[in-house]
Amino acid sequence: SKPSDANLRSPICCIMGHVDTGKTKLLDCIRGTNVQEGEAGGITQQIGATYFPAENIRDRTKELKADATLKVPGLLVIDTPGHESFNNLRSRGSGLCDIAILVVDIMHGLEPQTKESLDLLKMRNTEFIVALNKVDRLYGWKTCRNAPIRKAMLQQSKDVQNEFNMRLDQIVTEFKEQGLNTALYYKNKEMGETFSIVPTSAISGEGIPDMLLLLVQWTQKTMIEKLTYSDEVQCTVLEVKVIEGHGTTIDVVLVNGVLHEGDQIVVAGMQGPIVTSIRALLTPHPMKELRVKGSYIHHKEIKAAMGIKITAQGLEHAIAGASLYVVKPDDDLEHIKTAALEDVESVLSRIDRSGEGVCVQASTLGSLEALLEFLKTPAVNIPVSAISIGPVHKKDVMKASVMLEKKREYSTILAFDVKVTPEARELADELGVKIFIADIIYHLFDQFKAYMENIKD
Ligand code: GDP
Ligand code: MG
Repeated sequence: SKPSDANLRSPICCIMGHVDTGKTKLLDCIRGTNVQEGEAGGITQQIGATYFPAENIRDRTKELKADATLKVPGLLVIDTPGHESFNNLRSRGSGLCDIAILVVDIMHGLEPQTKESLDLLKMRNTEFIVALNKVDRLYGWKTCRNAPIRKAMLQQSKDVQNEFNMRLDQIVTEFKEQGLNTALYYKNKEMGETFSIVPTSAISGEGIPDMLLLLVQWTQKTMIEKLTYSDEVQCTVLEVKVIEGHGTTIDVVLVNGVLHEGDQIVVAGMQGPIVTSIRALLTPHPMKELRVKGSYIHHKEIKAAMGIKITAQGLEHAIAGASLYVVKPDDDLEHIKTAALEDVESVLSRIDRSGEGVCVQASTLGSLEALLEFLKTPAVNIPVSAISIGPVHKKDVMKASVMLEKKREYSTILAFDVKVTPEARELADELGVKIFIADIIYHLFDQFKAYMENIKD
């Protein structure tokens, strides 16, 4: 093999698609856990990452007899909350993901968010494969637990095969209407021009071996350069969380480079750049997801690509979605601090400063960005006058109360996936500031719309 093969990092994969197509369930199925049932409204609203070591992939794909071909150390899968999440996955320079799985429900075909996902994938030039999920729902499907899809298909009756082919043809046509050629992966002779479809069931596991193998083979075949490990640290904060016994921690995805215990780091914070040093580098046990609680493994150093929990002092106001920078001995700290703020400023600069509008508050930079984008769409069109990341405090209520004199109905806080402190709640009631909370973006809109209609009456 070529020398470069020896030094590949794990490809990073994200899962996209319309709500309820089975994104979370697919991950659960590979992992053998059940995260899906604990989610708000069944919708994934926080992102997590799961590392699948190569041995595991080898084991899951052994029926496909391809074990000689694995060159990457593993696969890092990011479980994204629908389309809005993709905005979370920004990283310096390039997108965080090397490849995406676009999940389509075989019973529903392309849905509105499938198309939005496609737009984002096209915009970012991200490679993807299509998981045509829920094949077990074809009428009369015979379960072949965790079997490769061709083997499972051979077990099916003519009727099931016919229904499958009919639905597949329909979906291929729908993709064509979006300007994309797609084909069943084992019939696809022009990978790269034509996107591959892998039929799957996240419930009984048919097609999962095929999906894993295709991801790994396709990335290591076509992305050698991108996957060649680089020393320059490239790292994105996914979540900021308080963990008992550890204080405020950040969950990050390390795309490239090495992090060490004791490294001096810079992360964008709500009150300016945070300069601190890494106290502990923690990972969950392999195959467990970062957001599932449990014991952690401590590391002296960690090499990309990996999902990592970092503990350090002063992370309370760190902003999820921002980049993490490592300060090396020769680096100019001021320069790095400026760079750390660029992400935040690009979001801040998007709001219309005309002065009239609601206040918007969200848990991460990415979700704030998604929420702002959503509020801007013509069908929604809610003006925004102020934004913030993290819990709603008294000062946020004070800020919103400024609107009471200008335009009373805008004296409102739309809070997405964040808590409201009791003091803030009390003050809001006192002043007449409305706070709407939801962990699904669309619900915020519904609540605000109902409120506006109420005012009109
Ligand atoms: P997400 O919104 O895309 O993350 O979808 P979920 O993973 O939350 O799944 C939505 C619903 O579809 C849940 O009730 C799942 O149990 C169900 N589901 C997901 N995948 C499959 C599948 O392959 N077959 C069947 N029959 N149901 C599935
Ligand atoms: Mg989900």
